[in-house]
Amino acid sequence: MNLTVPLTIALSKGRIFDQTLPLLAHAGIEPLDDPETSRKLILETSNPMVKFVIIRASDVPTYVQYGAADLGVAGKDVLLEHGGEGLYEPLDLGIARCRLMVAGRPETPEPGTRRLRIATKYVHSAERHFAAKGQQVEIIKLYGSMELAPLVGLADLIVDLVESGNTLKANGLVPLEHIADISSRLVVNKASWKMKHEAVTTLLELLREAVTERQA
Ligand code: ATP
Ligand code: MG
Repeated sequence: MNLTVPLTIALSKGRIFDQTLPLLAHAGIEPLDDPETSRKLILETSNPMVKFVIIRASDVPTYVQYGAADLGVAGKDVLLEHGGEGLYEPLDLGIARCRLMVAGRPETPEPGTRRLRIATKYVHSAERHFAAKGQQVEIIKLYGSMELAPLVGLADLIVDLVESGNTLKANGLVPLEHIADISSRLVVNKASWKMKHEAVTTLLELLREAVTERQA
């Protein structure tokens, strides 16, 4: 890919980085350092016009929204929480698939008897889900290990990502309600979409090809 303008791509370490790399490799973009071993937060790539910034998964929409990165890869869970302001979401990469679900102990009390407490890091998605059902709940914001909350009486239910269900099962919890199917999306800063249109759309089409090939 021969670019005439620089592109900055925001990625998070771990599964998103690992699963996005083969797609970016299809566009001839490969990092010159491994973020798991390097302490660098900005990575040069095999394309001198392209660099990666390595940030927390939940910060990706913010970096892209403010134009600190032209593009990024973010889970739909993170985008639902962020709201997607200032972003285009032109491509579902089909990676890091899981489901956003309500889970709890098998003997969770029926709603209606009292206001249930919901522990989650997905406050907005949880609020929207229960509001749509007309169910009054109290949301407790957590940053991790949601599965613990029902076990120690902090909450009745959790809203969390479920892949195999093994983590729930290991903690005596069961999936109860499906909220959304989750996968990672390419996001693009709205100004970059206009000002760097050719570069952005060239990369977008190469990624689209890679996604189609991967899913074939
Ligand atoms: P941080 O550690 O910064 O709080 P995080 O724990 O959300 O971030 P990851 O666990 O790497 O970071 O998750 C990054 C993204 O990968 C999530 O936003 C989600 O879209 C997806 N994801 C998370 N858990 C799973 C899973 N079990 N299966 C598939 N995809 C997942
Ligand atoms: Mg994690």
